[in-house]
Amino acid sequence: MNIFNTKRPLIIAGPCSAETEEQVLQTAKKLSKQDVKIFRAGIWKPRTRPNNFEGVGSIGLEWLKKVKAETGMLVTTEVANTKHVYEAIKAGVDILWIGARTTVNPFAVQEIADAIKGMNIPVMIKNPVNPDIELWIGAIERFQKVGIKNIAVIHRGFSSLSNSKYRNEPKWQIPIELRRRIENIPIICDPSHIAGRRDLLHEISQKAMDLNYDGLMIETHINPDVALSDAKQQITPDGLNKIINNLIIRHRKPTDAKSPNYIETLEELRTNIDEFDSFLIETISKRMQTAKKIGELKKKNKMTILQTGRWDSIVESAIKNGAKEGISEKFINTLYSAIHQESINKQSEVFKRL
Ligand code: PEP
Ligand code: MN
Repeated sequence: MNIFNTKRPLIIAGPCSAETEEQVLQTAKKLSKQDVKIFRAGIWKPRTRPNNFEGVGSIGLEWLKKVKAETGMLVTTEVANTKHVYEAIKAGVDILWIGARTTVNPFAVQEIADAIKGMNIPVMIKNPVNPDIELWIGAIERFQKVGIKNIAVIHRGFSSLSNSKYRNEPKWQIPIELRRRIENIPIICDPSHIAGRRDLLHEISQKAMDLNYDGLMIETHINPDVALSDAKQQITPDGLNKIINNLIIRHRKPTDAKSPNYIETLEELRTNIDEFDSFLIETISKRMQTAKKIGELKKKNKMTILQTGRWDSIVESAIKNGAKEGISEKFINTLYSAIHQESINKQSEVFKRL
């Protein structure tokens, strides 16, 4: 049986780090009375700077053994090298997870994959810290190649230089693309590391459910404020319960839908979208042809391609029109910067021609 294909959402919860036996067991006992199937705790913590809390190490595995024995939950921990793998498996850890700082490194991923070759242990692979889908897929393939059957991915967001409300930008289009490329791979959202703060956990979890994710991994601590790592994003078991109970879980298969006309209505709306899309392409193509004509005119008159004042006023009026139609400034800027680049390319082609 694939443990990741169970009732939606599959809930994985537990502290960022195992700190003491009491903290681990108290948190686990509370969680086991909720709908939590898998208990998580970091034993070896990958920290950015060497003087931060780096995890309790192997002693924590003894506490996870107790969690299993006393609550019946499955347990999972992060492994980053062969030593971690052997110790975790020896201690009866049920599922291994690969952290974001490991997925970026094909050597480390291969080393871990080789260490579990031929074993029947499920693996969860977090996205790499950088938004590179190929690295993520590469890690999945390395585990598939050594015969691991039960693989899930965890979306924990991506490092970014831009100022944002998130600790790690979700960039939802990347996990969605991953799912398109690797069909049926269970996908779990980790709102804790995306958010970096408690107050965003609910909205991110709901979004993941609306996007048809299979599960959620949420950091949970008996006393989050004094947690030795990721204190701001951890919540109590009661806090977790509240989030889960308030989630709206929508149907995933069309045949489960309530409305009898669901499929027809959906088809009709999709047809409309297709029409708008072909209209978009046609309009953009006309715009580019006009840009080319302008290029020819500029060339004849020995003018330069770039005339920034004109471009600023185009974007400004697009932002104004967009606002009236409920389109965000951020989107207009992104769209227009792509259009501008393509126009410049088209005009440069004209200029290059003799
Ligand atoms: C964690 O889950 O505590 C962790 C270290 O996560 P990530 O690898 O996503 O940073
Ligand atoms: Mn953490």
